[in-house]
Amino acid sequence: MIEQRLQRQLRRAMILAFCFIIAFFICGGLFSAYLHRTRNEAIRKQVIAEAEEYKKRILKQLKADFQTLSMLSVFIEEDYDEDKEFLAQQLDKVNQNNEFLTIVYYDKNGEGIISNLGEEPIVGASLSELSPEGRRGVELALEGNTSVSRLFESSISENRVFSYSVPVYSEGEVVGALSASDQIEIFSEILSGDTVLGGAGYIHLLGSEGNFLVQSPKMIVQEDIPSIFDGPYLSEASKEEVREALQQQERIFNAFDYEGKSYSFLLEPIGINGWYLFCVNTGEGLVASSETSTFIAQITFIGVFLLMICLMLYGYRLLKNYNRVLIRMAYYDSLTGAENLTRFQQRLRGTLRSAGGSVAAVSIRQFPFINEIFGKEKANQLLCEIKTAAEHHLNKEEFFCRDTEDRFYLFFKDTEPEVLSVRLKAFIDEICKNSEISHTNYLLALYCGVAAAAESDASDKTANNLMTHVLFALERAKGAHESFVWFFDAELHKKEELENYIESHMHQALQAGEFKLFMQPKKNLRSGMLDGAEALVRWNAGEGRQIFPDQFIPLFERNGFCIKLDIYMVEQACRQIRSWLDRGISPIPISVNQSKLLFFEENYVSILTDLLKKYDIPAKFITLEILEGLALENVEELNEKIGRLQAEGFRISLDDFGSGFSSLNTLGKLKIDELKLDRDFLMSASEQEHGRVRLIMEQIVRMAGTLGISTVAEGVETTEDEQFIRAIGCDVGQGYLYSRPICASDFDEMFMKGAGRYLDDSSTK
Ligand code: C2E
Ligand code: CA
Ligand code: CA
Repeated sequence: MIEQRLQRQLRRAMILAFCFIIAFFICGGLFSAYLHRTRNEAIRKQVIAEAEEYKKRILKQLKADFQTLSMLSVFIEEDYDEDKEFLAQQLDKVNQNNEFLTIVYYDKNGEGIISNLGEEPIVGASLSELSPEGRRGVELALEGNTSVSRLFESSISENRVFSYSVPVYSEGEVVGALSASDQIEIFSEILSGDTVLGGAGYIHLLGSEGNFLVQSPKMIVQEDIPSIFDGPYLSEASKEEVREALQQQERIFNAFDYEGKSYSFLLEPIGINGWYLFCVNTGEGLVASSETSTFIAQITFIGVFLLMICLMLYGYRLLKNYNRVLIRMAYYDSLTGAENLTRFQQRLRGTLRSAGGSVAAVSIRQFPFINEIFGKEKANQLLCEIKTAAEHHLNKEEFFCRDTEDRFYLFFKDTEPEVLSVRLKAFIDEICKNSEISHTNYLLALYCGVAAAAESDASDKTANNLMTHVLFALERAKGAHESFVWFFDAELHKKEELENYIESHMHQALQAGEFKLFMQPKKNLRSGMLDGAEALVRWNAGEGRQIFPDQFIPLFERNGFCIKLDIYMVEQACRQIRSWLDRGISPIPISVNQSKLLFFEENYVSILTDLLKKYDIPAKFITLEILEGLALENVEELNEKIGRLQAEGFRISLDDFGSGFSSLNTLGKLKIDELKLDRDFLMSASEQEHGRVRLIMEQIVRMAGTLGISTVAEGVETTEDEQFIRAIGCDVGQGYLYSRPICASDFDEMFMKGAGRYLDDSSTK
């Protein structure tokens, strides 16, 4: 049972641990996903922030270029005159000192000056000499607008350029347009910075069609491609979407795969000419470090997870071992390693359900002394030797245990006492022969109680009974001096049980009036009349259960309770006589049995006389029946006591004469009034060929007669008995022939009512 409970607990603990680990695993997964998301979010934010920064720098560059151009326009404004040659030289000078490729000036008539770096300025140029993009910028400026052109192939510098255009005012009116072109490479410096995304990315500048305007030298896509729609950047599916977004000048986040690696990118509109910054995250540097930390977190998590699994397995093993220890503690004896009583009883119940068997309880005689004389160690060793011997002597399906101290229980499949005797003797002999203690001069002895249960009465109750009975048997075997085996005896046990009941209930039974006065009539053989009655006690123990004197008187004589009971019975007799007197019925003497103990009670005589006084009755109605055994000890003292009682008026009768060491010699010495011949005499006399008994009886009766002692024959059961005792001269007869002992009221009814009180043998019926 303990085993099952522990197993259940272990399973529960494992399930709990497993659930915990699963929960941990799920949390870890969620955490990892969260980490991944925040990381992506952070990267995104970082990329946007950096793109913004670059956007700002590009715009700043453009602004600076515009400023240069605006300052130039102011200068033209101030020095404005019609001297085109002079203006051309001025423009050319300015052009030398800044980074523009070409500077042009057109007046509102469309006549212009073109200063191309490294060439002579052209004066009087027409608008048609400019590329359409350049021309468009000039036209816008003439209308009063500032503009930056798209990238175009310059017909003047023969380079891919873009142009800035600003209007030139004079007295608040647009008088001309100033336009300067430059190569897009001026942004390269900005865009090739090593600091893009903490070194983990690069930026391209795209035109509104997704075409590359400026490409970062750090780019990872090595193919020479004109636009982002051509390389590995966009999947076919997303191309259209991206194209639309570019038109709308929207910010785009996306990713592409290149040579087995995944890269994210951002398309950030600059806000001029539909240009875009194309930021690619190569996943190194700062970003990489955050990726590494995610990776480390994941590795740590997996490590912790594995550690937990290991811990769980370790815990499981630990618990299992612990359970094993608990089970050992619950079912095994730590000293000898044998099973303990709990386990033994469990197995006994299991076995007895299907088959019979016997249990033997074995103990060592004087074990406490062995402990004291030989020491605890030797005593323990002896217990271990018993365990080894038990293992050796028991067959398959038989088992044993050590209870406490020196007590062992053995279960045998056998039930026959003869077989068990032999087996137990061999077992005990082996222990006594081999034990170290026996090798000293000490007589080692084991005693053993056995109780058997046949197959037919096998049940749980039997197992309990067996364990109780075996202890009774063990207790019985204890007294012997040598090794001894005692088999449980059910009859004896019943008797012992009854004695136990009697001893524990006698006091309250006396108080509760459970002891009842029964009477048996005595017949005067000469007159045929009722001569007296003998008071005999009956114990009504309740629920109709009657206990007979033979069952408790010997016990009461041993434990001294007889003194109380006898006095109580004398009182009952006195009460009966008083009742007769009170009812005007002439009383008959009542004989009351007196135990030996009582007879030597110091104030015995006064107790009796007090009772006589209490009920106010004459002592002659009370006959005290004493036992012959009393005379054996001290005849003088007994005679003295008898004399005192007779002086008070009591009659003294010697009971059961002939049953023990009766001697006519003693009879001669005792001053008794009546002699009761034991029932045994009649029993033997009635058998044939017992002439000797007849003779002895005759002699006794005659001798009593001469001593003036009346004789009562007990156990008169037949008319032959009566004829015989009458023939030998007996005075009185008592026995079943006249009546069994009956309760006082029945006695009154049967014997005290008729005037004649004539007793015939019909009164029995
Ligand atoms: P006892 O004093 O010899 O009493 C006579 C016993 O013989 C009684 O047994 C009685 O029932 C039985 N008996 C009488 N007639 C016959 C017969 O014809 N045939 C047979 N077979 N038996 C007969 P009981 O009442 O069982 O008493 C047994 C003994 O218990 C008595 O033997 C007496 O020694 C003792 N006893 C009974 N009552 C008392 C008592 O109050 N005090 C003491 N101390 N002892 C008592
Ligand atoms: Ca008697
Ligand atoms: Ca008797």
